[in-house]
Amino acid sequence: MPIQSVTFDGRPQRLLAFQDPVSRASGLIAIDSTALGPATGGCRLWPYDDNVAMLRDVQRLARGMSYKNAIAGLPLGGGKSVIRRPAGDFDRVALFRALGRALNEFGGDYLVAEDVGTTTGDMQVARSVSPYVFGLPVSGGSAGGDPSPWTALGVFLSLEILLARRGRSVAGSRIAVQGLGSVGADLCRRLHAAGASLVVADVNERAVAELRATVPAKIAAPGTIHGIEADVFAPCALGAGLNGTTIPEIRAGIVVGAANNQLATPADADLLHRRGILYGPDYVVNAGGIINVAAEYLGLTTGEVADQVARIGPRLSALLDRAEAERITPSAAADATARDILASASKGRSGLP
Ligand code: NAD
Repeated sequence: MPIQSVTFDGRPQRLLAFQDPVSRASGLIAIDSTALGPATGGCRLWPYDDNVAMLRDVQRLARGMSYKNAIAGLPLGGGKSVIRRPAGDFDRVALFRALGRALNEFGGDYLVAEDVGTTTGDMQVARSVSPYVFGLPVSGGSAGGDPSPWTALGVFLSLEILLARRGRSVAGSRIAVQGLGSVGADLCRRLHAAGASLVVADVNERAVAELRATVPAKIAAPGTIHGIEADVFAPCALGAGLNGTTIPEIRAGIVVGAANNQLATPADADLLHRRGILYGPDYVVNAGGIINVAAEYLGLTTGEVADQVARIGPRLSALLDRAEAERITPSAAADATARDILASASKGRSGLP
């Protein structure tokens, strides 16, 4: 199927659907913006219920990547890919070779790395047929490899900033963490090392057991973790967890975590605000991973990645200041800032903060 021009939420996107008869997988790649550079975002492998759910996810995620990359000051646009995970056993190599062939259709306008459900190994397979693949294993101080620890670091630094706004620190705080995958588990280790107490939940019992083998934590049922009494609720599972049902039940004063697209709708930012809950916008705080991917693309070192990830905290502070000054939510402040950067870039100016 050729690349299509479509519209998402009032703005154009480019979309490519691809199929792989060997693995029985179907996928979509969406490019939201190349105003700042090649569209960059991970590939998600997920058992979507249907094509509508898959399309909605890739379009929302691609838009989110435009904003995330702009706010992070990266020379990258926004894009994303999703693959509907076939039921039962499937040929994983064939699947990621198919992704690689689809990437080549865009001729470098879209760069991929791993995301939920995909690994550095999968990226190596895609790289065998396409040069537009990152998140690959590296050595010798060069940036690259699994972005998750950098994402966890950025979330941790953001959590410190938000707690400080409430006159608290990580030490002695109680943090409820939802999702103990690559990022959530790493975040838990950092929080424990810094003196926080943890309440955790994951739908995968093995993930809970693995975490508890190294970090002391109380366990909550996955359906109740958002309502645990805590200083911070950290959503590190999947998107849309902050919605009209869960927000009224939240008993933490701060919400900040790694998951992409945490708010089910933009109005949910207002709902959090009205309840007096301080929110760290997801794409601002979880930019550590994409900063690492960008550094791999640009040939930077891990030291340079660390410097850039350290800027996430001050950037969040500046957005919170803007939100207070303009009496808007932190999410609205982040969206407005990202749109300003993208508009400047589209007019041919650099516009980076
Ligand atoms: P992962 O797949 O390794 O972990 C996700 C975990 O969430 C899994 O253990 C899963 O069992 C659990 N989970 C799923 N649904 C749940 C539910 N309802 N309740 C509790 N647990 C549930 O993914 P990850 O790489 O750790 O990423 C986590 C989130 O952060 C995702 O939304 C991802 O898009 C986002 N993110 C990740 C990175 C990164 O560098 N990996 C970067 C930016 C954003």
